[in-house]
Order: sequence, then structure tokens, then C-alpha cells
Amino acid sequence: MTGRTKYLLDESDLPTTWYNVIPDLPEPPPPPLHPGTREPVGPDDLAPLFPQAIIAQEVTQDRFVDIPGEVLDVYRLWRPSPLYRARRLEKALGTPARIYYKYEGVSPVGSHKPNTAVPQAFYNAAEDIRRLTTETGAGQWGSALAFASATFGLECEVWQVRASYDQKPYRKIMMETFGATVHPSPSKETAAGRAVLESDPDSTGSLGIAISEAVEQAAADPDTRYALGSVLNHVLLHQTVIGEEALLQFAQAGDTPDVIVGCTGGGSNFGGLAFPFLREKLAGRIDPVIRAVEPAACPSLTRGRYAYDFGDTAGLTPLLKMHTLGHDFIPDPIHAGGLRYHGMSPLLSHIYELGLIEALAVGQQECFAAGVRFARAEGIIPAPEPTHALAACIQEALRCKETGEEKVILTALCGHAHLDLPAYAAFLSGRMTDNELPESALADSLAGLP
Ligand SMILES: *Cc1c(COP(=O)(O)O)cnc(C)c1O
Repeated sequence: MTGRTKYLLDESDLPTTWYNVIPDLPEPPPPPLHPGTREPVGPDDLAPLFPQAIIAQEVTQDRFVDIPGEVLDVYRLWRPSPLYRARRLEKALGTPARIYYKYEGVSPVGSHKPNTAVPQAFYNAAEDIRRLTTETGAGQWGSALAFASATFGLECEVWQVRASYDQKPYRKIMMETFGATVHPSPSKETAAGRAVLESDPDSTGSLGIAISEAVEQAAADPDTRYALGSVLNHVLLHQTVIGEEALLQFAQAGDTPDVIVGCTGGGSNFGGLAFPFLREKLAGRIDPVIRAVEPAACPSLTRGRYAYDFGDTAGLTPLLKMHTLGHDFIPDPIHAGGLRYHGMSPLLSHIYELGLIEALAVGQQECFAAGVRFARAEGIIPAPEPTHALAACIQEALRCKETGEEKVILTALCGHAHLDLPAYAAFLSGRMTDNELPESALADSLAGLP
């Protein structure tokens, strides 16, 4: 086996701007609406929840946004991240395709989430905020924000979905090591949590419920703000550092992707990888197919409705126009906790409606089979979420084997599974099921759209 395996950038090549795709789109995404008036929300509506700098980034029309020096200093702990050529996986599959993966598991918490947690903590600290609240599912986002908060001297309080809180103690320990306080959600600390517990004392929780709790706490305290780990424009903006680096690394490799695949929970790792390539595509310089992959148990892009819905369960957030399964939808407890969200980034939903990206849903057994195949070839055990992207990568690579096409496939390996190994245990022992969403359950939750 000859040829390079890793494409590495120097610290001095770290991009100094994030890329905002909105000005390059043929039309802008529909704005968030105030649930009472159904008028677009203004900066004042968001001020109790987010610092001014983040609100400005949420609506900016600038194509490029400077990354503050203080943020670059922290990014340099793990960035630039490596781009790998998956030569061993290619060989194992016997495919003529060339497969590349951008590996975000090298961050301090093992995923892409710190790319946005760090700037969010920085902007809050710069505006003298004392405490951040947030929700977390599997714990990836909570640990990223806990790490970032520690870096900038902020308190951090996390509502963790009950099912994960009970089943995955290691993420909680990680958050506490970074100094955060962790509550199981639904909790008795908030009105939203108490309301859920009243009707269902054994609720295992959902991201939507945990968001309601964290938002309620932030809105009630002038020194506290809320931080969201996905879905919103500013989060996808921060994640574009992934794609900007990958563009430089592809130039190094002298190659161009034909197919870009990524997993989508709220859309941030996918948007972060794909948007800089979409810019090049819209400019006519390259023409990759861009494909989002979601779980069959939580298929917001492929089976959800494109409609205004709440981002949380209690209905405390603005209405977002997005692909949604309904805000009171509670997905099956599949192992890819980061992909169990009822909605999808409004920006990504809009781009999907414009026909600029494709989407497909994959069942979790196929995903874990892909994860195991990848691990045995490449030596990295992928987090449950990116196994979805790898399943689609392998589908594409096997199609190339049939046709003899030498396509270039790029994916984001957005995290490792070192704290999610029980999911692999379930798969390896044959205890894993495929939880396709039944039509009746989908109809029920869509009936609750506002
Ligand atoms: C949070 C998370 C996701 C899902 O979030 P996106 O915003 O869709 O990226 C996917 N993978 C990993 C490893 C995560 O931590």
C-alpha cells in the first residue's frame, strides 16, 4: 500500500474566518417567528437567551466572519484536524473509489462540538455573562460546553436527557471534571420539567424537554445565557472551520470530492463540512453531490414536514421553519443520541428544499455494521452518529465497485465512540434492533404542529 494516509495542515494554516453560506444562496431562509405574533423575531426577543455577538452572527449577511484570536488560541489545542485517506477501508471493500474522512475526534471531548462551544463561551464571557445553561443528549454537547466554559471561567449547568444520564455515567463524570453541574431531565428544577414529571413520572426525557428546561433557567436570570449545540445559523457558521480546512487538505491531496456525506442530527457537523464545498459548487468550480444521512428512527429530513415548529417541547423557543417530526415527538432510544432531535437546522432544511443537497435514512444495524467494518480497517471506532455517514459512504463505495467508477468520497468522522462502547456491545451480541418510525406515530406527532 503506497501513498499518503494523512493530510495535515500546519497551525499557521488554521482558517481565520468562518464561512456564512446564506448570502450565496439563491434565496434566503425563512426567518424565525415569534410564537404569539407570528412576526419575525427581533434581536430584543433573543437578548435574554444569547449574547449580542451571537445574535449578530445568527442574522449576519457577511460571507466571512473573523474568528477571534482568543478562539483560535483554543482551537490550536486540536486544530487543524487531520484529513485521512481511508486506504485500508477502500482495500477491504475492494472499491475503486477513493474515500477520505475529516476526523473531528481529535478534540478534547472527542467530537466536533467544541468548534462552536469555544466561540460561544468566549462571546458570553466577553459580555460578562456568569453562567451558561444547556441541554445534552448523549453528553457530547454538554461535555464540549463544560470544557469551553472552564476555558473562559464560566459556570456551566447542563440538563441531560434522563435515559443517557442513567445509562452513560462517563459523560457526566467528564462534564463534572470540567466543573459543570449536571441535572437529569426532566428535573424538578424547572416548571417545564415538573410539568412533564407530573404527567409521566418515569419519563426518560428528550432533547426537546431538556432544551425547555435550560431555556427557562437562562431566561429567568440576567447573568445567565443559554447555549445551543446545533440547529441555529451561528452554530453551523462556527463548524465551517471543518470544511475550510478540508478544502485546503484536498488541494494538498490534488483531489476533488464527487460525493460528500455526513450524518445529520441538527445539521451542524454536516453543514460545517459541506458549506465551504457548497460555496465552490455554487460558484461552478466543483460539482459534488452532497448527501445528508439520518437515522430511520428519527428521519426529520426524509419523512418530516417542512413547517414552522418549536425547537423545544414546552414551546418556549421561537418558531423555526424546518423539517420536523413535531416538537412533542419522542424518538426511540437508539444509540446515536446526537441524532435524536425532532427538527433540523432551518438553514439546512432550506438548502434541502432548494434541491442543493440529498438526504437518506438508514437503520441502526446497517450503521453499526459499517462502524465495525470501518474500525477493523482504519483502527478508529466511530461514534454511533457518524456510523450513519459511514454506512452511506460504504453504500456509495460498493456501487463504485459494481460500476468501476473511481469516485472520490468525503465524509466527516465527527467523533469517536470511546464513551459509547456499550452501543457496540449491543450490536456485537446481536441485541440491537432496527427502530423504523411507524407511520401512525409520525402522524400523531405531526398533528401537534403549532
Ligand atoms: C452532536 C453530535 C452529532 C449531531 O449533531 P449535528 O449538529 O447534526 O452535527 C453528530 N455526531 C456527533 C459525534 C455529535 O456529538
